[in-house]
Amino acid sequence: MRIRIHRGTREIGGTCIELEADGQRLLLDLGLPLDGDPDDESVRPAIKGLAGGGDLLGLVLSHGHVDHWGLARLAGPDLPVALGSATHRILRAAAPFVPKPWVPLRPVEFASGTPLHFGPFTVTPHLVDHSAFDAYALEVEAGGRRLFYSGDIRAHGRKAALFERMVANPPRSIDVMLMEGSSFGRLDAEQRFPTEAEVEARFVDIFRRSEGMALVAASAQNIDRMVSLYRAAKRTGSTLVIDLYAAEILRATGNPNIPQSDWPNVALFVPYYQRVRIKQTERFDLLEAHRSARRLFPEDLKAIAPKAALLFRPAMLRDLDRADCLEGARAVWSQWDGYLKQERGIALQAELVSRSIPLEHAHTSGHAAIGDLQRLAAAVAPRMLVPIHTFQPERFPEHFDNVALQEDGVWWSAAA
Ligand SMILES: [Zn+2]
Repeated sequence: MRIRIHRGTREIGGTCIELEADGQRLLLDLGLPLDGDPDDESVRPAIKGLAGGGDLLGLVLSHGHVDHWGLARLAGPDLPVALGSATHRILRAAAPFVPKPWVPLRPVEFASGTPLHFGPFTVTPHLVDHSAFDAYALEVEAGGRRLFYSGDIRAHGRKAALFERMVANPPRSIDVMLMEGSSFGRLDAEQRFPTEAEVEARFVDIFRRSEGMALVAASAQNIDRMVSLYRAAKRTGSTLVIDLYAAEILRATGNPNIPQSDWPNVALFVPYYQRVRIKQTERFDLLEAHRSARRLFPEDLKAIAPKAALLFRPAMLRDLDRADCLEGARAVWSQWDGYLKQERGIALQAELVSRSIPLEHAHTSGHAAIGDLQRLAAAVAPRMLVPIHTFQPERFPEHFDNVALQEDGVWWSAAA
């Protein structure tokens, strides 16, 4: 087996790995670089046969984050795109709400532990703990060699048990391990991230102190976080208010243990821009799907505000102003801090300051702490460990054995 990492040997985002065995090829992930534009041809990796039907046999997506699938739209109708079934449903659910939607033209849904076959390649997905729901590490066997790609992984989310199970029972006889290193440069080696349960406890504390509405800026696709929010709202006697997009994402998980729009302590508020969009696209079926939810209208918001945690997006500010429901409000940033330093994040902070709304933080990373990566690497004990999805590959040799640094765009052999 030969391997070529198109992007990721020294950056987070735009992950793409090309494998070759017996003259046939397979892709793992086809992501968009952070801040990249899918229409910008310069960010597209040089991969032959994306139209499908040739010696490129397929694309396997590890999970539903844009930095792992954002260029998959380049795949033609004849290229099979394998992805977790919940990931597929979430992509479809998100499509009516996002500016550049994508769903695979030729999807192949997979489940954890069930091998997929593409010519000489056997790919076994392993469900992992990550901030994206339905995320997988991928074990690939071809030409007598075995590769293990961690995907994005962590050990401190609500599915931490999956990480411990993998450490206790790792894939065997791995020649090459491609391991993510997002946390290098963000966290010292001996530090750990808060657990998702600790994030929940922080929400509880904030909701208790809030005299008005809690405006929580979080990704609806971070399902662990939605669970934390729901549980914290319940524990404090608050109502979790979600919009139609979040309601649809939660429905798409297909998991009866994940909070849904019609659960007690949950209410649906459809902001103006979503109402406009539904009218424009005539997607009234989306509202119909949540007819049993407790629906809040703008005139209901003021009364519920002191006991409400709203899943907040900046585009809702005008709705909230008009509803006159922001007295005593408190904002909670519950996603990556980096967004706050970008133009839109700076603008949002100015909007909050002008309304005297304080901003607090409640978040944890989607990526493993370095100590957890060390436990995983030691358990898998690959013959070769290759850094990926990291800004600091040069720090790997300090922390792991058998590290081999690779370059973007260069083929190398799993047998080396
Ligand atoms: Zn991810």
